[in-house]
Amino acid sequence: MSRSRIVVFGATGSIGRSTLDVIARHPERFEAFALTAHAQVGRLFELCEQFRPRYAVMSREADADELRARLTQAGCPTEVLQGAQALVELAEHSEVDTVMAAIVGAAGLLPTLAAAQAGKRVLLANKEALVLSGQLFMNAVAQNGARLLPIDSEHNAVFQSLPHTFGRELGASGVRRIMLTASGGPFRTAPLDSLDAVTPEQACAHPNWVMGRKISVDSATMMNKGLEVIEAHWLFGAPAELIDVVIHPQSVIHSMVEYVDGSVIAQLGNPDMRTPIAHALAYPERIDAGVRSLDLFEIAKLTFEPADLVRFPCLSLAYQALRAGGAAAAVLNAANEEAVTAFLDGRLGFMQIADVIAATLERAGDSPVESVEAILETDGRARAIASSEILSRQP
Ligand code: NAD
Ligand code: MG
Repeated sequence: MSRSRIVVFGATGSIGRSTLDVIARHPERFEAFALTAHAQVGRLFELCEQFRPRYAVMSREADADELRARLTQAGCPTEVLQGAQALVELAEHSEVDTVMAAIVGAAGLLPTLAAAQAGKRVLLANKEALVLSGQLFMNAVAQNGARLLPIDSEHNAVFQSLPHTFGRELGASGVRRIMLTASGGPFRTAPLDSLDAVTPEQACAHPNWVMGRKISVDSATMMNKGLEVIEAHWLFGAPAELIDVVIHPQSVIHSMVEYVDGSVIAQLGNPDMRTPIAHALAYPERIDAGVRSLDLFEIAKLTFEPADLVRFPCLSLAYQALRAGGAAAAVLNAANEEAVTAFLDGRLGFMQIADVIAATLERAGDSPVESVEAILETDGRARAIASSEILSRQP
């Protein structure tokens, strides 16, 4: 069996490192062909020494120069490239078969889309790219014979709970609805009036998952679940009314599919991203992911509650954007990225994140999203509006 050659976009991140952990367990199956990072030279250097990929990419020239010098000195043959265009070229590289899309935010759009257009096997963690480009991305997958496999634990669980023959026709498969589970994040039971004073450190302390800072804040506001509702819409061809959100604080059931005969199929496991990553890397086979067995006696209880939309206005905003269609999801995503950055920088209060997004959605209006240029233009315009909304709220 020839080894699968993999590009890991965002190799230094939480998903990137979990991916490399699984790859390292199966050197006979997988080869890390290229590793990329934004600015973490030290971390990417260590990963290059360990995995000795053909290529490494840094966003900026100075970081690329530093990485190149360190690798040369260490006798590592990895070739260092620089910039966004290098990411696109690697996504399209003829020797690459699999692309792990694990850059955070809209920055991942172009390389992820390029992988779909090149007909690769695309392992999608970068949900923002799909939220932004929705139809365009799904068309690129269909028209170029790409294989799209969801890494987001909920969508991977839904994928595993759907029939193997599923072709994005829920009705034809007898699906009644999709139930996305959500932990509810760190503030599920905190007094409502304490949320204004939440700090970035509190918001990033997720009860069940260790993740990058942006997605951790998204989990605390539940915008993460909102983005996931939109992601499920595109991945599974599901209208908003067939996607329900269920708060399940233990994060053991990763999501469920209900069928018309009353059957509910769920995927369970310990909350460890190496499970969906290994599933997608080896699909349709199964490989060891290094994840410990699920101890049901230790867990003892699985509980469920509805999502409180007063506490989590971001979830309503995402449903609203999905129902509005057009550019609304792209605007929602851009405003959220700006607001989360401002919150992490101490320029915006936690509960103001939703206010900024709502105001941006109202002001942005609709705009075309039929081409990648139009999407990037919409994204830029929404960010400018969101920035002005953030400024106007500064303490
Ligand atoms: P992270 O912040 O830990 O890592 C992000 C990676 O992207 C890093 O390698 C960073 O260097 C790179 N990056 C950041 N900005 C970049 C830019 N402008 N250009 C190029 N590279 C850039 O994030 P994460 O938690 O690993 O999440 C990555 C993606 O996976 C996100 O879209 C997130 O929503 C999704 N996801 C993460 C988890 C999780 O458990 N962490 C679960 C589900 C989905
Ligand atoms: Mg998720």
